[in-house]
Amino acid sequence: MKNSIPANWKNCATCCHWCGSKKPDAFCNYVEFDMNEKAKCAGGGFNQAKMNGLQSCNKWEQQFTRR
Ligand code: SF4
Repeated sequence: MKNSIPANWKNCATCCHWCGSKKPDAFCNYVEFDMNEKAKCAGGGFNQAKMNGLQSCNKWEQQFTRR
């Protein structure tokens, strides 16, 4: 199921370490992802673990910033 959250919310879906599929809108205000997808955290706080887009950790780094 598709879901959209603000690009500055500290969740895996908006994090540069998350390998899941995600798509920012034209202004990078929001990021669209699939709530049912589990994808690898690459080099972040849960390195190599499969994370749901709504999970989070203290190593979060914002991937998309407002244009
Ligand atoms: S576990 Fe942390 S570092 Fe890894 S993708 Fe999620 S928020 Fe980013």
